[in-house]
Amino acid sequence: MSDLKVYNTLTKVKELFIPINKNHVGMYVCGPTVYSDVHIGNCRTFISFDVIYRYLNYLKYNVRYVRNITDVGHLENDADEGEDKISKKAKLENLEPMEVVQKYTNGFHNTLEKFNTLKPSIEPTATGHLIEQIEYVETILKNGYAYESNGSVYFDVESYAVNHNYGAISGRKIDELQSNSRVLIGQDEKRSPLDFVIWKKAGPNHIMQWNSPWGKGFPGWHLECSVMSTKYLGDKFDIHGGGMDLKFPHHECEIAQNTAHSGNTDSIKYWLHSNMLTLNGEKMSKSTGLYFLPEQMFDGSTELLSQAYSPAVVRFSMMQCHYRSTMDLSDDALKAAGKGYLRLVNAIETLDLLNGAEKSSIDVNAIWEKCSSAMNDDFNCPVLVSHLFDVVKLINLVSAGNETLTVDDIESLKKLFNDFVVEILGVKIEVNNSSSEGIEEDLIKLAVDLRSNAKTNKDWGTSDLIRNELGKLGVTIKDSKNGTEWSK
Ligand code: AMP
Ligand code: ZN
Repeated sequence: MSDLKVYNTLTKVKELFIPINKNHVGMYVCGPTVYSDVHIGNCRTFISFDVIYRYLNYLKYNVRYVRNITDVGHLENDADEGEDKISKKAKLENLEPMEVVQKYTNGFHNTLEKFNTLKPSIEPTATGHLIEQIEYVETILKNGYAYESNGSVYFDVESYAVNHNYGAISGRKIDELQSNSRVLIGQDEKRSPLDFVIWKKAGPNHIMQWNSPWGKGFPGWHLECSVMSTKYLGDKFDIHGGGMDLKFPHHECEIAQNTAHSGNTDSIKYWLHSNMLTLNGEKMSKSTGLYFLPEQMFDGSTELLSQAYSPAVVRFSMMQCHYRSTMDLSDDALKAAGKGYLRLVNAIETLDLLNGAEKSSIDVNAIWEKCSSAMNDDFNCPVLVSHLFDVVKLINLVSAGNETLTVDDIESLKKLFNDFVVEILGVKIEVNNSSSEGIEEDLIKLAVDLRSNAKTNKDWGTSDLIRNELGKLGVTIKDSKNGTEWSK
């Protein structure tokens, strides 16, 4: 059994990281299947890897960042049977499959642009790499790790597992997988239910199909990522990422394919997985209908949220949770993020107004050190954000005359915010937008309290004025014996 050493975290990013290929750090992230709009859960994964990409760039690594577009081969329920997600959508909407692909690729790009993510260096598509995929399957067949069956080609997991660890990153054990698996109807082409398709025979009604040595068909979903990652990053590369739900079987299958193809057991050094965004503790997912779209957050049109949130605030809320932890999205968490964002923006503005003192009472170098260490420790954004909030408190103390900063240290803190908030976390500082975030509710409460005071003082004119003006803003006030209630 070969001993595959797998790293699931990237600690000491700054000191430890020696790229496998001299010219660049290779980073591959599984991209979206472009058959529908990306939901906010998908965005969390792409934003997590954007921060990793940004930080590596910040450290002056030359990163080649490859993120694919899955435009064929991803079958319903991530299974080896069922309809291709894109074909199905094309039939439903009476479109060419490539029209579906273009429409949702454009949507994906527009959404990620709103979230201020950087574009990858290469964004290859599965349909653009059919020749490479067919050649890859031929090599795996030649190396004895696959077999043809009725026009499809299957990866032979059991023969692979004789000498290799199938389960290296997911921790699954082959014998447990075997005893838990059952032969499904229609899967009898496989020698074992654990085998997975790498080239699939297309039925006559399947719209997306190509000629191959095994007849007309299309590539399996796991195959495209092995082929495109190694084509652009080499047989061995540094980082492979994706959402936690891709760890098994998608990434386990990728490792098996890579090894069966090149013989390298250590094709990827760091496997990084970003954890799921949940809603009330359940994974956000298109298939269960439990999700919402980024646009619904930006315009506040989902009943799950009490107000709209700007992309910068949504992104900032994601920075307060480590990428390997699950994150539950809630209105309260977003509100808190909105308030935190506003405090941050205010502190950055305050820095511009401070007068330099002769001596600093604050150790600014130590602050830089802490922020760097947080990012060096497996991109620990929540710890970084907590350090940044400590700096906000210090700036307010300086502004109140209780602490001092020299002109140089004031400039250094301006750079600190620019480097860590804007460049690394990718959170845009939007001064105008920020004022409407988080504090909206507080302002309504303030107006309602002022009206109650006016009523107590029998100042009916002011009380009516406040109620009418709030009404114009869409806020309704109702007086009851328990006090005043309001709603939007
Ligand atoms: P898909 O288009 O379904 O292949 O998903 C695109 C990316 O989004 C993959 O990396 C998934 O792992 C990730 N993803 C899917 N659902 C979620 C979720 N609820 N939270 C975070 N990432 C997700
Ligand atoms: Zn993939």
